[in-house]
Amino acid sequence: MPGRFDVSLEELSAILGDEPAFRSRQVWRSLHAGREPDEMTDLPLALRARLSQDLPAGLAPVVTSVNADGDTTKWLWSLADGARIETVLMAYRSGRVTVCVSTQAGCAMACSFCATGQAGFTRQLTAGEIVEQVVRAGRASPAGRVSNVVFMGMGEPLANYPATWAAVERLHFDLGLSARHLTVSTVGVVPGILKLAAERLPVNLAVSLHAANDRLRDSMVPINRRYPLRLLMEACQAWAASHNRRLSFEWALIDGVNDRPADAAELAALARPLGAHVNLIPLNPTPGYLTRGTPAAGVQAFRDRLDAAGVNATVRRNRGTDIAAACGQLAAITGP
Ligand code: SAH
Repeated sequence: MPGRFDVSLEELSAILGDEPAFRSRQVWRSLHAGREPDEMTDLPLALRARLSQDLPAGLAPVVTSVNADGDTTKWLWSLADGARIETVLMAYRSGRVTVCVSTQAGCAMACSFCATGQAGFTRQLTAGEIVEQVVRAGRASPAGRVSNVVFMGMGEPLANYPATWAAVERLHFDLGLSARHLTVSTVGVVPGILKLAAERLPVNLAVSLHAANDRLRDSMVPINRRYPLRLLMEACQAWAASHNRRLSFEWALIDGVNDRPADAAELAALARPLGAHVNLIPLNPTPGYLTRGTPAAGVQAFRDRLDAAGVNATVRRNRGTDIAAACGQLAAITGP
């Protein structure tokens, strides 16, 4: 049985059977507002009961963790087949609420420094399972809504392209999130980037770069052997040419590995011609990777070098490390 967000509006009409025609839209809207069938008090009782049966939730909460600052929530969900994923909600003082969604249970990319990569791949998520993460997080958010969605949770979105793109369209058309507020992150799946470039909705693209020469990148991000930097930069160029959207490079700073002056110079040489923005984040600890993140002074120095080379860079605050909810820490185990 499909999860409730894997049913199309037409399939919902079929489930509703003899109900008046306006019902399917009404139920559709309620579902996307995060209401459970038994909370749809504008429906007859018998219909509510039937929907609870016919539209089972795709995600069941296993553990909900909130960080000490109270601004980051992580959910561990169990899917219908028992596979597990995580979703993170981040609330900002500005009022912005960002949800970080998973696109796969596990990940096959095997990046050495990432907890999801260390755990391996379980299965692809459906578009409905991705959308349901946003709906549920939105319902739990302080504002009762979500303003931004980043495809930066477990998994490689562009290795699950059809579901990822279907989810983007659903978030845009059914949840009313503008493409400007959606960001797809990739480790560098070149054919996926080229496909994104050809799509009509202009989402933001983040590329998890971490190394700007093939020798180092091959060792950190195995898919670089298939799509080396020359091909990756060509794809980024195609994407930048197709959409007037911000391209960003993610760079997890690792002590003595990719935080040297030469690394900053190589990165600047790739970022500047593309006008890419760089997000710097000191590496978060994961069980399978022992080298530590760059200490704060080194992070600043790296940023200053990029700045001097004419590249905009932001140092991102690590949120939710105390609940293993920060970048690269999602492993879908019960955690701390
Ligand atoms: N597979 C996609 C989506 C995941 S996004 C991608 O790689 O872009 C998760 C981000 O966290 C990526 O930029 C990833 O490289 C980064 N990351 C992984 N492990 C990390 C760690 N230990 N510390 C900081 N960032 C990490």
